[in-house]
Amino acid sequence: MADNGIINMDGLMRISLLGGQARAFLVESTHMVEKARQIHHLSRTATAALGRTLTAASVLGCMLKGADESVTCRIDGGGPLGLLLAVAKNDGSVKGFAAHPEVDPPRRGEKLDVGAAVGRNGLLTVIKDMHMRDPYVGQVELMSGEIGEDFAMYFTSSEQTPSLVSLGVLVGDTVEAAGGLVIQMMPGASDVAIKSIELSAGMFMDISKTIQTDHLDGALFQLLSHLEPEVLSRQTIQYKCDCSRERVERALISLGEKELREMIDEQHGAEVDCHFCNTRRRFTEAELEALLRQAKGGV
Ligand SMILES: [Zn+2]
Repeated sequence: MADNGIINMDGLMRISLLGGQARAFLVESTHMVEKARQIHHLSRTATAALGRTLTAASVLGCMLKGADESVTCRIDGGGPLGLLLAVAKNDGSVKGFAAHPEVDPPRRGEKLDVGAAVGRNGLLTVIKDMHMRDPYVGQVELMSGEIGEDFAMYFTSSEQTPSLVSLGVLVGDTVEAAGGLVIQMMPGASDVAIKSIELSAGMFMDISKTIQTDHLDGALFQLLSHLEPEVLSRQTIQYKCDCSRERVERALISLGEKELREMIDEQHGAEVDCHFCNTRRRFTEAELEALLRQAKGGV
């Protein structure tokens, strides 16, 4: 899959339903998840698990108001995949990683056993950094480790917004399709509106298949046309890491003089890996000496 940005861009639609009684976020994230698979050499099960997490994070990111704000989703279920982490911003950029990307437990029938890989004894934590003094932190216990249900529980109990969440990744040798649908009831929604969305829940569950055949516009028609959809906005989403050598330099400086001195004297240099994009940056002794001078307050 070529990485030329424009053609391979995924998208997210914000939709009003039933005259504003509910809202939906419909996501096509195929290329984003494929890029994560390539960067992290994810197993099929890890692709599904991290892909669902990245897709959910893209929705949370697009819910943020400010350009510099970010949301971090941590899933720590105690399973063999270890920690899953995804970070998103409201410009549609998303990045993440899985602690043990090679883990691939046996399938359960036809299905990848995401719940077993993630684990079911742990927490989903959502941290929103909105440049306030303290970040917002919401946390729920995992329901099933299948991730969709876990995010539904997060929205419903932690944000007090009753929500349906469907997340899906179809993965063969590469990612064939990935997507998500989040439907949220708005305050004052009528019982009839709630009922009609609940009755539709079954059709939403195969979201990756729908995205594969119909893409965003087709999925909108297939899944939501009976709920008076009105598209409010569309935006692109993509896997993107915002790390840079300059940022790593600042982080090294912030370690302080003692740590930098040790790196120079004992390791004769440093290698710093970015967990999100696997870029390795090397620093020579001379470069570390220059950073040490800055740490001491010189230039
Ligand atoms: Zn990076």
